Amino acid sequence: MGSHQASAADQAGVSIPLGEDYPDIRESVRRICQDFPGKYWRDLEAREAYPSEFVQAMTDAGYLAALIPEEYGGAGLPLRAASIILEEIHAEGCSAAAAHAQMYIMGTLLRHGSEEQKRRYLPKIASGELRLQAFGVTEPTTGSDTTRLKTRALRDGDHYVIHGQKVWTSRALYSDLMLLLARTTPLDEVKKKTEGLSVFLVDIRECLGKGLEIRPLKAMTNHNTTEVFFEGARVPAENLIGEEGKGFRYILDGMNAERILVSSESIGDARWFIRTASKYASERVVFNRPIGQNQGIQFPIARAYAETQAADLMLRKAAALFEAGLPCGDDANIAKLLASEASWHAAEACMQTHGGFGYAREYDVERKWREARIQQIAPISTNMVLAYIGEHVLGMPRSY
Ligand SMILES: Cc1cc2nc3c(=O)[nH]c(=O)nc-3n(C[C@H](O)[C@H](O)[C@H](O)COP(=O)(O)OP(=O)(O)OC[C@H]3O[C@@H](n4cnc5c(N)ncnc54)[C@H](O)[C@@H]3O)c2cc1C
Repeated sequence: MGSHQASAADQAGVSIPLGEDYPDIRESVRRICQDFPGKYWRDLEAREAYPSEFVQAMTDAGYLAALIPEEYGGAGLPLRAASIILEEIHAEGCSAAAAHAQMYIMGTLLRHGSEEQKRRYLPKIASGELRLQAFGVTEPTTGSDTTRLKTRALRDGDHYVIHGQKVWTSRALYSDLMLLLARTTPLDEVKKKTEGLSVFLVDIRECLGKGLEIRPLKAMTNHNTTEVFFEGARVPAENLIGEEGKGFRYILDGMNAERILVSSESIGDARWFIRTASKYASERVVFNRPIGQNQGIQFPIARAYAETQAADLMLRKAAALFEAGLPCGDDANIAKLLASEASWHAAEACMQTHGGFGYAREYDVERKWREARIQQIAPISTNMVLAYIGEHVLGMPRSY
């Protein structure tokens, strides 16, 4: 049990920041977000457009390059700082969904990319000249069963030829590069199903129209997500990340950071919902009293706040262990579960508090409510997190 957790002795040396850590970053992100009020996001959604101005503002401030080391032109900040950037974006009513992948997937290139790849791509990503926003893992027929994915990459001289299909590849139409997971050795030729998968940095600009087609996928929120079709796209062998066949491990390596970063977005959402709901509950008068005086309105908000505080502590613990270089899988998964549920409970409380006005677009409650729901499905669904806890933390039989 607990194989993905640091020992008690190791954990004893790790401390967790309380309160508003990184106050300068928080303040600066909040200031940028003020230029992107609810109306900006509502207008974008009506046009199904991408928030290019917002992404540009975050890029200009250096925040999307937070995790890129200084030697490659980034800010070289710790994961906790990146986490705070995402939290504050969401707490201000904005959405990081258009740009967060650059943070989530950066680790794969940083940890497993060659020096040559890092020198070639990272400075341009840091400056905003190149966008690394697309992550092609999920496939329509295999879903959460990632190791059974069907996209194939076959070596042909100094290229790999890609055939297959991805779904929910968000931002692919607004990204220059895609991190792609594809099978290089057929499933029936590997000893373990986790072997034989490889990660590629696909240059979308070079492949589009030459064996790569991207189609927008209409979704519940303005997520700029797509379906991606590979029919013989040629990717230079030099764009393989790390060793052929080891890609699944590289992706797994990045999962803890990803869990921590998405949890931060949920904490930010929860803070927005709780602040918005508390204010409305105190101001809206029905039956000659503020609705927040009724416990049926007040208590769900109070409960969501308590859940959010608990999830935030778990998130801070996971981030602190990550920074200390200690195993943090258990905490990162628990943080993800608690944060996504806390934000959903806060969303529900906020919606119910607003009554009919919760449905009115101009209040932004329905938009944030729809956006918050995703955290229980992507990038990993709640059941998969529970399966992790059941198996890896509690030692129960694997369910899949
Ligand atoms: C808006 C959006 C954006 C996304 N962006 C990306 C992206 O950029 N890149 C990318 O690669 N993917 C992306 N995804 C895909 C996302 O990661 C998947 O939707 C998610 O991992 C779940 O996979 P699935 O949809 O195939 O569900 P399925 O795997 O079909 O699962 C359906 C349900 O069954 C449950 N389930 C399945 N197996 C088990 C089991 N053994 N035990 C218990 N429950 C089980 C799941 O938990 C889930 O609730 C995105 C999805 C959405 C909706």
